[in-house]
Amino acid sequence: MTKSPKSEPSFRESVDLMFNRAVSLMDLPPGLEEKIRVCNATYTVRFGVRLRGQIQTFVGYRSVHSEHMEPVKGGIRYSMGVNQDEVEALAALMTYKCALVEVPYGGSKGGLCIDPRQYEEYELEMITRRFAYELAKRDLIDPSQNVPAPDMGTGEREMAWIADQYARMNTTDINAKACVTGKPAHAGGIQGRVEATGRGVQYAIREFFRHPDDLAKTGMSDGIEGKRVVVQGLGNVGYHAAKFLSEEDGALITGIIERDGALTDDRGLDVEAVRGWIAKHGGVRGYADGTFVEDGASVLEKDCDILIPAALEGVINLSNAKNVKAPMIVEAANGPVTAGADDILRDKGCVIIPDMYANAGGVTVSYFEWVKNLSHIRFGRMGRRQEESRHQLIVDELERLSNDTGIDWELNPNFKDKYLRGAGELELVRSGLDDTMRTAYQACSRVWNERDDVADLRTASYLVAIDRIATSYRAKGL
Ligand code: NAD
Repeated sequence: MTKSPKSEPSFRESVDLMFNRAVSLMDLPPGLEEKIRVCNATYTVRFGVRLRGQIQTFVGYRSVHSEHMEPVKGGIRYSMGVNQDEVEALAALMTYKCALVEVPYGGSKGGLCIDPRQYEEYELEMITRRFAYELAKRDLIDPSQNVPAPDMGTGEREMAWIADQYARMNTTDINAKACVTGKPAHAGGIQGRVEATGRGVQYAIREFFRHPDDLAKTGMSDGIEGKRVVVQGLGNVGYHAAKFLSEEDGALITGIIERDGALTDDRGLDVEAVRGWIAKHGGVRGYADGTFVEDGASVLEKDCDILIPAALEGVINLSNAKNVKAPMIVEAANGPVTAGADDILRDKGCVIIPDMYANAGGVTVSYFEWVKNLSHIRFGRMGRRQEESRHQLIVDELERLSNDTGIDWELNPNFKDKYLRGAGELELVRSGLDDTMRTAYQACSRVWNERDDVADLRTASYLVAIDRIATSYRAKGL
């Protein structure tokens, strides 16, 4: 793994530097800039769980960056790298991200210092429930105050435990399920949440390619088909992004970087097969249908069209930024490019789709899940059959006209099948996500193209987000 040189700012400092760069181009009232930038509070908890005959102590965090809107929202990460600096950086990014994609939340983030692979499932359940208890009793898990979601090292399973723990502690709260998102479908989740962040990455790239002037800045030709894509991290986000881009848009996944090394194949790797291999063997080593590269991080420098870091922060830094050849980087992970690397890449003309936009699909669909939980009804339940019967009316009428006039034509069965199918929850979620990603990109692209002093999409995204947060503070006072 490429390490950030010591001289580089920390993750939180990197986020602040990028924030400062944007606010220097804004005219905010004195003091408001500082109010928006600082993290409101970080709670640190140390708790013990009796495991394997002894008490083990765990350290966890929940940071609340901004409460200009409530509840605040942000994932819970399980990783040995979790620390206060990281959690605060991630919480700040959540504030900006939510503002950018117009989901009505402030920013938060949580983390537990743990390597989940070292524990049995029942042990993880005990640890998660205890962590959730500590957070819930301080309103750091609460449907109207603070709503966590999955992040690195956590998923549906952990979210279901958290929801159940909260419900046990709040037996009369009718909205208890809305205390956390990313739950499995059978436990109050929503269809399309697991794929949402990767799906959002795909929608972000599609929208970028719909903007010819923006695309021209990369020097790439039109269309995603045939583009060579390198993905780092084949976890939830990276896997879904790679899968959809290759299966639906014809991109070639020419590199996959994992913990134990990387795989490359210029003809395109089979994402499903690699994912299956990792699930079985714990890494990419030994996979036959591709070339194994021991020094996985070196593949970040491989010649490709689109580089998608989807694992962890700081992987593109002062030590390797100058060697990155991709003309476009899509930050599916949070903070994969350090502030110093950002400067180098900008100077080289590399276009970066920034994390706060690129991976906002997760929080967007989490928002839909929360709304579903609060409304206690699944999306599409009221309207789907009504929509189908209205479409059936049109089809029947067209067929009647055809019969009555004797003109020999018939509707394409494929069209008929698609047209007659009313939108269910999954279709509605994808439609809402697509709309969100398009609208947010258009706002950023406008700023990027219309202002001479805005050199990149990251600064444009910060400008859009900070302006909205400032408006919200101005409207409600502090
Ligand atoms: P995950 O745990 O499902 O997947 C992470 C993947 O990265 C795993 O396959 C892991 O093996 C791999 N990995 C870990 N260390 C690596 C290394 N040093 N080199 C290469 N690969 C490595 O996590 P995820 O949910 O997919 O999250 C990934 C990133 O996306 C994080 O930055 C997270 O904050 C961000 N994100 C996630 C979501 C979400 O909905 N899950 C939403 C927004 C942003």
